[in-house]
Amino acid sequence: MCGIVGIISSQKQAAAELYESLIHLQHRGQDAAGIMTYNERFHMKKGTGLIRDIFDQQNMARLLGNTGIGHTRYPTVGGFSIEEAQPVSTNVPYGIAMAHNGNLVNYSELVREVSEQNHRHINSSVDIEVILHIFAHELNRSDDSTNGLTFFDQICRAVETVFSRASGAYSVVGIIMNRGLFVFRDPHGIRPLVKGIRKNSDGTTDHIFASETSMFYALGFELAGNVAPGEVIFVEENGTTHSRLLRKEQFTPCIFEYVYFSRPDSIQNEVSVYRSRLRMGQNLAIRWTEQHPDTLPDIVIPAPSTANTAALSFANELGVRYSEGLYKNPFIGRTFIMPGQEIRKKSVRYKLVPQEFEIRDKNVLIVDDSIVRGNTSREIVRMVREFGAKKVYFVSACPPVKFPCFYGVDMPTRDELAAAKRSVEEIKEYMGVDILMYQKIEDLTEAVTRKGEHNIDRPCMACLDSFYITDNVNEEKMGSLEKQRNLERSQLA
Ligand code: SF4
Repeated sequence: MCGIVGIISSQKQAAAELYESLIHLQHRGQDAAGIMTYNERFHMKKGTGLIRDIFDQQNMARLLGNTGIGHTRYPTVGGFSIEEAQPVSTNVPYGIAMAHNGNLVNYSELVREVSEQNHRHINSSVDIEVILHIFAHELNRSDDSTNGLTFFDQICRAVETVFSRASGAYSVVGIIMNRGLFVFRDPHGIRPLVKGIRKNSDGTTDHIFASETSMFYALGFELAGNVAPGEVIFVEENGTTHSRLLRKEQFTPCIFEYVYFSRPDSIQNEVSVYRSRLRMGQNLAIRWTEQHPDTLPDIVIPAPSTANTAALSFANELGVRYSEGLYKNPFIGRTFIMPGQEIRKKSVRYKLVPQEFEIRDKNVLIVDDSIVRGNTSREIVRMVREFGAKKVYFVSACPPVKFPCFYGVDMPTRDELAAAKRSVEEIKEYMGVDILMYQKIEDLTEAVTRKGEHNIDRPCMACLDSFYITDNVNEEKMGSLEKQRNLERSQLA
C-alpha cells in the first residue's frame, strides 16, 4: 500500500497542492516520499521518512510547474533506502516520470525481459521501474505501425503493452514532459485511484488523481468518480482530456482498503469507507448475539483507531456502552506499517495506554479491525488484563487472514500470519482471551457492497480465501514469492 497523487492545473503551481495531498495520504505509507514536477525540465525531491521531514520551503520552491505527481511509500518489496523512493523517471522518450501503488506478481520475470529484450537498465527493486520501462519502450517505438496514431493512441498502445505483460495490482500516475499528466489502473482495479475536478473562474478545469479522496475538500476538488479498472486517462497541458477503457475484466478492488487502509472519510469505488465500517460492526454484533446469546459485555472498546467506527456500531447494535478505554498517543506511527517485527512488538505499549477506570472489574469486549500477525492483539489483551478486566472478549471486523498478499500489502508470508497455520481456538489461546470471534467472509462482503452505486463484481479477498484474481498465483508461485520476500528481509536485517 502506498499513496499516489497527480495534479494538473491551468493556473496554480502544483507542488504546494501535491505536498498537501501527500499529508492527507501519509497514513498509506511513512517510509519515504517524493514529488516530481516539470516546466522546461523535471524537478524532483525525494527522501526517507515523513512528508513533513522531507520537504521544506527551500526544496519546495525548486519544484516548479503546474503539473506533477507525488508518492508516499509503504514498502512491500525492495529496501528502505532513498533509491527505492518514487517517482521514478526516464529521459527516453520525451522525459517520463511515474509513481504507483501496487505490486507485480511477475516482477522477477519482467526484470529479466526488460533487461535482455528491451536493453533497459533497472536501477532499483521497485515494481514501478519495470512498468515505466515497458511503457517508455513502447512509446518510443516509431515504425510503420505508429503512422496515423495520435499521441493519445500511442499512450494507449503503451499502456496496453503494460496490461499484457504486467500481472498484479497497479494504479499509476505519470507525467510526460511538456505533454501532460496520464493515469491508468490495472484491469482488475485492485488498488484504488479516484479522480477529481476543480472549475476555475476563467472557465478552465484542474484535475487531480489520487489513491483516496481525503484531500479533495481541502483543495477544493469535487469527486468525479474512479479511474475505471483497465482505463487510461491523459490530460494535455491545455486541459484537453482523453480517456479510453482498454480492458474490461472482473472488478475486484482490495477489501482491506475498507477494513484498514483507507481513511474513514474516503469514498472508495463509490462506497463510503466509514459507512462500510459501521456495517461491519453491525454485522458482527448480529453474529455475536446468535453465537453468544447469554454473554453481554459491560463495555465495548475499540483497538484504536481504525476499529473505532466498527466498535461504535457494534456497541449500538448490542445496546452496550462504547468506551475509549485505550488511549492512543497520536504522535506515534501505525505499528502494522512499520518495517520489522521487533519494532512492531515494542511499539504497542509505547503507543496505547489503558484507562483503568474504564476497565477494572468489567467484562471488556475489544473490537479490532483485523488480526494479522496477532502480536498487537495479544499485547492489547495483556494490557487490559493487567488493568483489572474480569473477562476479555475479542472480535475482529475482518475474517482470519490466512494467505499472503501479492498485490501491495505487507503480509507476505504465511509464517507471519496468525491464522495461516492455527485454528481459531489456537489463536484464542495464543491471545489469552475468553471468547474470540471473527467476522464471516460473507458478512464482510455484504458490509462493503450493501450500499453505494458501485460496480464491484467481487472484492479481492485473496488473503482471506486464497482466490487470487491474477491466475498466475499457484502454490509453487506463492512459495517462491514468499522465499524471495524472506531473502530480501534477511538482507536488510
Ligand atoms: Fe487486499 Fe488481501 Fe487482496 Fe491484498 S490479497 S489486495 S490485502 S484483499
